[in-house]
Amino acid sequence: MAIVKKTPEQIEQMAAAGEVLVRTMSLLASKIRPGVTTLELDQAAERFIRSQGCEPAFKGYRGFPGSICASPNSMVVHGIPGAYTLERGDILSVDIGVVKDGWVADAARTFPVGPISPIAQKLLAVTEQSLHLAVPQCVPGNHLGDIGHAIQHHVEDENGFSIVRTLVGHGVGREMHEDPQVPNYGKPGTGVLLEEGMVLAVEPMVNVGKHQVRLADDNWSIFSADGSLAAHFEFTIAVTAEGPRILTPWHEAKGGRAAA
Ligand code: MG
Repeated sequence: MAIVKKTPEQIEQMAAAGEVLVRTMSLLASKIRPGVTTLELDQAAERFIRSQGCEPAFKGYRGFPGSICASPNSMVVHGIPGAYTLERGDILSVDIGVVKDGWVADAARTFPVGPISPIAQKLLAVTEQSLHLAVPQCVPGNHLGDIGHAIQHHVEDENGFSIVRTLVGHGVGREMHEDPQVPNYGKPGTGVLLEEGMVLAVEPMVNVGKHQVRLADDNWSIFSADGSLAAHFEFTIAVTAEGPRILTPWHEAKGGRAAA
């Protein structure tokens, strides 16, 4: 599949999907607390997304039953919302996809549930920082490896955590997963050349321990293999002539800095 570049008008449409996503993320931020189940969060998200005339991109995707992915603690990604009840001291990764007028926006962040341990605080801070460090790399003339390197260097060389290798970011547009794949590791100046109109879901997934992961019996949830805590932060980012544009700026919303 070739990389599908977007016109400025199409990027505006994706930004409109991103705006609904950011409001959904803020809604969940206000609901995340000890005693809440991940199913309750899923239902609140689905209700809100549909109330905006949009659809949850994940629902039914390859048979996925949820509207969001909700992945606590050592679960990296793809958690099916359900009976799991949040506890004080948990971390919870929430991944949301919104389809508006046929265009997809995709974003994630990991929330603290009440006060969390120092190592969990560091994990959330470092993973979020790595995403922010990737943003300025998303400019025409750079390469995919510049994005991956910015993330990997911060996470592994500077902070001693591990980038998950087997899960990567992706192009996004009318389809949730488009080319190219966007690894969270790499060498500067290597890989696909970035061009105006590309839209990328950049999504560092980081384990406190080793990088290996395992698939759970439900065939969806992915855990760190060593059981260490994991975090996931994601933006949909457009590569434009004016520079990188974050189409899902949940960090600018009310409560957006709760993880810091
Ligand atoms: Mg994604």
